[in-house]
Amino acid sequence: MGRTVGIDLGTTNSEVAIVENGQARVLPGEEGDLILPSCVGFSDTGKLLVGRDALRQYAAAPDRTVRSIKRWMGTDHKTTLRIDSASDETREYLPHEISAMILRALKQRAETALGEEVTQAVITVPAYFTDAQRQATKTAGEIAGLEVLQIINEPTAAALTYDLRSDETEQVLVYDLGGGTFDVSVVEITGEVTEVLASHGNNQLGGDDFDRRLQLHLAERFRQAHGIDVPEDAVTQARLLRAAEQVKITLSTHGFAPVREAFLGSKGNTALHLEAEISRSDFEELLRPLLEETLEAIDRALADAELDPEDLDRIILVGGSTRIPLVQQMVEEHLDQAPVDGVQPDLCVALGAALQAGVLAGEEVESILVDVIPHSLGISAAVSTPMGIMPGFFSVIIPRNSVVPVSRSEIYSTMSDRQTAVEIEIFQGENEIAEENVPLGSYKVEGLPPGAAGSIQIEVHFDFDINGILTVTTTEKGKGQQGTLVVNHGGIERLSSHELKQARADLDALFQDGLFQPDETLLSSAASDVEDDSIDVETSETIPIAPELVALLTRARQALDTLEGEQVEELQDLLDDIAEAIADSETELIANLQEELADFLYYATTQDS
Ligand code: AMP
Repeated sequence: MGRTVGIDLGTTNSEVAIVENGQARVLPGEEGDLILPSCVGFSDTGKLLVGRDALRQYAAAPDRTVRSIKRWMGTDHKTTLRIDSASDETREYLPHEISAMILRALKQRAETALGEEVTQAVITVPAYFTDAQRQATKTAGEIAGLEVLQIINEPTAAALTYDLRSDETEQVLVYDLGGGTFDVSVVEITGEVTEVLASHGNNQLGGDDFDRRLQLHLAERFRQAHGIDVPEDAVTQARLLRAAEQVKITLSTHGFAPVREAFLGSKGNTALHLEAEISRSDFEELLRPLLEETLEAIDRALADAELDPEDLDRIILVGGSTRIPLVQQMVEEHLDQAPVDGVQPDLCVALGAALQAGVLAGEEVESILVDVIPHSLGISAAVSTPMGIMPGFFSVIIPRNSVVPVSRSEIYSTMSDRQTAVEIEIFQGENEIAEENVPLGSYKVEGLPPGAAGSIQIEVHFDFDINGILTVTTTEKGKGQQGTLVVNHGGIERLSSHELKQARADLDALFQDGLFQPDETLLSSAASDVEDDSIDVETSETIPIAPELVALLTRARQALDTLEGEQVEELQDLLDDIAEAIADSETELIANLQEELADFLYYATTQDS
């Protein structure tokens, strides 16, 4: 058995760490660098590049290089890479295949540093990652030749690295702003136990977004100076983006940052350069709206944890983007408490993963993890009433922030006479309207005994394991007829052992020859479609709802797609209130809200036209 490592598989950067003699340390690459950029590419001769070398060629060869693949994890988004500069040959890769290359490079890095084989790993993911994204991460680890012992949440890992020897209970807020994702978690630490009380975030927000805002700002400066736009081609845009990131990093320690990009465009025979100076306050103006969003997430996490800011014993900042002074300032002002200084924000997640890996490998380490489920999980259910049918409600089976592993069941019953099949649609999210949540998959339960409406009962059982993987089982109660149905995870299915073997062999070949031959069956079977079938199960509760309200709600859901800005929020709030009123059977309130909704829709649509 080889060694067990902890891996922070980041959007922008990744690290691998290990515990030795109870102490965690990040393992360096051959040049002594602790951070491996999460960047993959092919050189002009078709050699595979992972890390700094790939990042170096990104600006010059964006068609042969890929960054920030983590944003796509759990989807079937394909990245097309040109595999050498001489030919036009391209290859398509799924997100977990690219991630497997990064993990394989980290495994190699660790083996070189330790002089031993590395076979097992604990890998971190943002607390906000969905089930499909966690599964894709696990699959990537397996393709890279690692047994993934556990997938843990990044903020939890970060909290593990702080000196927490006191036996008193501490409430800690972990604010993690990296390259591509944002998470805020409230964790409770008692002695050696770390429990996530609540977490919120946005898996599409981070330093990359700040770079893009600055990139647009730089393009505007160029246009003002020369009267023409920066050329749209990929190479020029990549140069501008790289310059933007450099400006951002400089502004973390300086009030102003100079930009000089020569030959960015041309007018006739004249070459045009970008020469500008960006002030910290220019940058902060671009940044502030994005950071406001993160403060809202803090409030939601605190509310879920039922804590006030003054209950927090400490605030930990994690992720490279928390080096930005405005981030520190806004968090401090919002919570009226300064974040603690300590472990480097970009390394503490990998160190925490190593501590957890140490625990699992049976080493002497001083922390134990308790994790929570980041999203509510449930199914779409119809509520039948004497006055009509109310479809599409989200019936939660496992509420968010339940401690994992967790198993829960709910009973549903058939809606019509002689009904022999029901369609079960599984979602994760917090919206009362099922379709506003993230679909995880759907399946049909068939062969039910024909009976009167409501007489056939089906138990839907959700089982959420420590890796954040969901298994759904349905049982028809009357006959005890049971079926375990594999949930389609909405993006990536688990690989069969044959597919896994093939994918590993491909990766081995790639690391040896510098050329990856993707398996066509793997590409097609790994991608999956989520069916959009209608629902025909009902919850056991019944509530009186007028058909007019059903029609109004249908219109409202359509309007959510067309409205913008505050109107969306307003409508969403109204829908939430209605759902709550229905759940509480508050007839009078439902009638009032129905009127309000009708007025809103009338007003919003008249305004539109
Ligand atoms: P991480 O995902 O934690 O590795 O964070 C990577 C992000 O942090 C990238 O967007 C980097 O550009 C950003 N970053 C790293 N160092 C700094 C810095 N000194 N100031 C601002 N952003 C930084």
